[in-house]
Amino acid sequence: GKGESKIAAAARKLGITEAELIERQKALLKRREQEANREVEKQKQAAAQSRLRDEQERKVQAAKEREEAEARRKAEEEQRKIDEAAAKQKDAEKPRSGGARAKPAEQAEAPPDPSALEAAGGRVKRGKGGGRSDDRDRGNTSRPRGGSERRRGKLTIASALGDDGDRQRSLASVKRARERERERRSSGGQDGDEKVAVEVTLPETITLQDLAGRMKERVGDVVKFMMQQGEMMRGNDIIDADTAEIIAEEFGHTVKRVSEADVEIGLEGADDADDDMKPRAPVVTIMGHVDHGKTSLLDAMRQTDVVTGEAGGITQHIGAYQVDNGGNKITFLDTPGHAAFSAMRARGANVTDIVILVVAADDGVMPQTIEAINHAKAAEAPIIVAVNKIDKPDANPQKVLTELLQYDIQVEAMGGEVQAIEVSALEKTNLDGLSEAITLQAELLELKANPDRIADGSVVESQLDKGRGSVATVLVARGTLQRGDIVVAGTQWGKVRALVTERGEQLKSAGPSVPVEILGLDGAPAPGEPFYVVDSEARAREVTEYRIRHKRQVAGKASAAARASLDQLMNKLKDGSVETQELPLVVKADTQGSVEAIAQSVDKLSTEEVKANSIHGAVGGISESDVLLAQSSGAPIIAFNVRANKQARDLAEKEGVEIRYYSIIYNLIDDVKDAMSGLLAPEQRETFIGYAEILEVFNITRVGKVAGCKVTEGVVKRGCGVRLLRDDVVIHEGKLKTLKRFKDEVAEVSSGMECGMAFERYEDIREGDRIECFTVEEIERRLE
Ligand code: GDP
Repeated sequence: GKGESKIAAAARKLGITEAELIERQKALLKRREQEANREVEKQKQAAAQSRLRDEQERKVQAAKEREEAEARRKAEEEQRKIDEAAAKQKDAEKPRSGGARAKPAEQAEAPPDPSALEAAGGRVKRGKGGGRSDDRDRGNTSRPRGGSERRRGKLTIASALGDDGDRQRSLASVKRARERERERRSSGGQDGDEKVAVEVTLPETITLQDLAGRMKERVGDVVKFMMQQGEMMRGNDIIDADTAEIIAEEFGHTVKRVSEADVEIGLEGADDADDDMKPRAPVVTIMGHVDHGKTSLLDAMRQTDVVTGEAGGITQHIGAYQVDNGGNKITFLDTPGHAAFSAMRARGANVTDIVILVVAADDGVMPQTIEAINHAKAAEAPIIVAVNKIDKPDANPQKVLTELLQYDIQVEAMGGEVQAIEVSALEKTNLDGLSEAITLQAELLELKANPDRIADGSVVESQLDKGRGSVATVLVARGTLQRGDIVVAGTQWGKVRALVTERGEQLKSAGPSVPVEILGLDGAPAPGEPFYVVDSEARAREVTEYRIRHKRQVAGKASAAARASLDQLMNKLKDGSVETQELPLVVKADTQGSVEAIAQSVDKLSTEEVKANSIHGAVGGISESDVLLAQSSGAPIIAFNVRANKQARDLAEKEGVEIRYYSIIYNLIDDVKDAMSGLLAPEQRETFIGYAEILEVFNITRVGKVAGCKVTEGVVKRGCGVRLLRDDVVIHEGKLKTLKRFKDEVAEVSSGMECGMAFERYEDIREGDRIECFTVEEIERRLE
């Protein structure tokens, strides 16, 4: 085999010493062990809990059985008394004895009337105790008939309730007892004849209060029941569905379990009838290569708006605008880059009807042009090509159109279906031509929606504004969004306090394809998140609470998966492959859209060896807590269009946390790429330098074996890497310890000359072996 161990090889690859690697492995093992211990601990706890519950159940069962036995005993006692009394009376009245003597004894043995059990045992009738139903069955079949039954029943209730009055008063006391019993039942605690068993719908978790409500029981009784089970709980304490099911069954109800996810059902509402559909404005996204004029074109198109003049123009960036160029309305989405477009699509928001592909006539099809085409195709949105910058002297629109053919974009002029419009955003040339093309395309698409229903749609952008709180731009897809509507978007909800347009006007309502800012949500939902109007705050809470829980569960699972991958990492380390290095980042940006875009772009840079990990991404300026988070995880802070406040800046300086400011996403990505490249293990490049042959082996005291060699090819250098070849098989790989010519240590020996060589920690050398010499260069690697 080769003389180097796997560990040594792995260490070499990682560029660390063997000791360091072993240290690392130990640390990993230790961590895994701790993790495993924690898991065991958790399981122990779970087991203990289930034991506790079993114990409780057992106790309940035992208590039930005791109660039953007690009731039976009392009933039997009573029966015996009656029988004795009856016998005495009979004896007194008719002193003759008959064959019917045996009968009382028989009766005494018969099980008591179930109503007695019920009265005495309280819960006896409920639950599923095995013994109970047997008793009941037996009771039913062997129960004596006739008036004696009723009498005994009355009496047993009386006795069971501890009324020890004599027989003379028993009727009255039984009446009183019945009255009490009826009261007790109607007050809700017990299942009596008049109580209806209901089917209780159980979600995955429920509060005692809610459960009681659904069972039509009093909360107090449920709490009392739990108390009897040794659980001190309050009405608003939450229990899981399993526990709830036990309770419900104890109270004599049936249950229907529903999945938590069921709360999502019905959010979307019904489909609209064709007759209700009215035409709506197209939603347009402008895409294309950087600097080809997306922003300029959007600005120019905005200025074609006829309303702008009167209303004072667009006053704020809200991520989407509606332009009315004289009858035809067009909604433009202003999303930062293609990443946001796909992030929105990833959440199911395919809001864009038409993509305007901007290509500069002086530049032609560029990488992001192609990217844009792919995005549009994936979204199945028709493309209109806007050949921009035709005012430029070196503009060549024809070349653009020809280049586009390669990407399956066949414009009308070339016999295809795609409209291509030559424009100049700068000179505002042919903008109405572009508008017309959009309107035409929209007509072709027959875009329609029902405005007369409750609204739904998508979040385009959102942020937390110091003064106004959560501000989300939404685009209505169907229906009409009204001020005062209760809206659910992702894990956020709220009552719409205001609807504001890009001109700062307040609206009362917004119909299909109208983008508006809504105020009043309790947080900033992610772009692309669908929104729905719901009919009550309770419904909104139900949905968002479920979603938050669900999200947490998913996150939990993800971290479990991360733990699993630690094992894989460990294994990789063992078989010598490379450990993944991670670059943690704290990302702060001006809008949620930017945060998403950055996270996505950075994520795309990750490879098997290095990974950028955005440990925190949020909207807003940099605070001290961001700095602390960054410091604790050794992460730089990436600030996109936001700044740090004074305290945060000071703290960052003190703690040595790097804050990098950006306003151009490409620069940001380049820098992250650089940083990640820095984490890449350098590539080791080997260069062959020469061969030597062993002519003779000398055994020198205190030095060990030295090979007397002749260099046959190239050169041999001091400290170079060597492989020992015996019959053309590599039998050792290592380093040269000494390189001597005569008695002197030399730097190199070239071909044809003789020299003495010894290896580091290796002695098995023989005459006739060949030595291959090489150097190893470390080459810094870059991410592609
Ligand atoms: P974006 O990166 O695609 O949003 O491109 P911008 O809208 O920021 O435009 C990039 C540069 O091209 C800016 O300097 C614009 O002034 C310029 N530009 C945009 N449209 C035109 C045009 O139609 N003609 C000329 N000559 N320059 C333009």
